[in-house]
Amino acid sequence: MDRVFNFSAGPSCLPERVLQKASEQMLNYKGSGMSVMEMSHRSKWFDDIIKETEQLYRDNMNIPDNYKVLFLQGGASLQFTMIPQNLFGKNKKAGYINTGAWSKKAMKEAKIFGEVIELASSEDKVYNYIPEIPAIPSDLDYVHITYNNTIYGTVYKNIPQTKDIPLVADTSSGILSAPLDVSQFGLIYAGAQKNLGPAGVAVVIIREDLIGNALDKTPTFLNYKTHSDAGSLFNTPPCYSIYVLGLVQKWIKEEGGPEAIYKANEEKASLLYNYLDNSDFFKGTVVKKDRSLMNVPFLSPSDELNAKFVKEATALGMENLKGHRTVGGMRASIYNAMPLKGVTTLIDFMKKFEQENK
Ligand SMILES: *Cc1c(COP(=O)(O)O)cnc(C)c1O
Repeated sequence: MDRVFNFSAGPSCLPERVLQKASEQMLNYKGSGMSVMEMSHRSKWFDDIIKETEQLYRDNMNIPDNYKVLFLQGGASLQFTMIPQNLFGKNKKAGYINTGAWSKKAMKEAKIFGEVIELASSEDKVYNYIPEIPAIPSDLDYVHITYNNTIYGTVYKNIPQTKDIPLVADTSSGILSAPLDVSQFGLIYAGAQKNLGPAGVAVVIIREDLIGNALDKTPTFLNYKTHSDAGSLFNTPPCYSIYVLGLVQKWIKEEGGPEAIYKANEEKASLLYNYLDNSDFFKGTVVKKDRSLMNVPFLSPSDELNAKFVKEATALGMENLKGHRTVGGMRASIYNAMPLKGVTTLIDFMKKFEQENK
């Protein structure tokens, strides 16, 4: 069977070249006589892989020297609890901007350890916009945003300015989709399975001065210092996932780096948004200025037609277009790895469906 265009929100499609490389190296990695899945995480082989992967992140994201790059388990969700345990200071007070379900989950975990101020929210309109950020109280230990909102399809086009207060960003579905100035953040984290590689690892980019101040009762494993001191090798890391993360970073570099990836993403997303804006059948759900380049939710005129659309698209090899249950309709996740052809194929089908069902 041919490969499909996979519009899943996550785990999501990977660049085909990466999958090919992984399959070439599957049985015998660079003459080691072993698969990366089989080798010791203390071996020279794996040491080279994890160091090279880190360096590729540093190059691609232009990460300043005073930031650590950590590869941790537990996905983005474990970061929801690691962040407050490590970043709450004497005030035990943090500001969160509520832009959807993932923000809420992050807030829920932080509340276990201290006070959470909801600085702004877009819940009133099912999160179809990014709210204005009010003046930020000076006694906060950190401010948390969800950079790209996977479910609702919004993204911050401007990063909030928090001055001396560390800004923390869940970038799970937006990392490396557009250039980000890492120095504006205290901590950036991302579960891998949207834009970085296979599930099983989260990438955490953290400013060094935020490491080593964890709350007294913080478990060893949940302390950033543990993993920073051990170079992400405190225990057995998700070795194979980290290896594929490296292949994806190499792919990004070969494609021309984040600027080139961003250009390609803009081209793909604007084709789809332009079509939606000019259709009187389909419509996008997000306010224009806050539209994500990665996740594009849209509706047809009825629930019946939404279901019919998803079913027919699936039969044509365009999979996982069903929207999140809280938004309904459809959602096309068009991450870095989605080829232009996937988006044009989708638009061609939308045109045809519109004609047939108007
Ligand atoms: C998918 C996602 C998560 C959850 O990631 P896990 O790795 O499954 O924990 C968190 N935040 C955002 C924005 C996501 O898209």
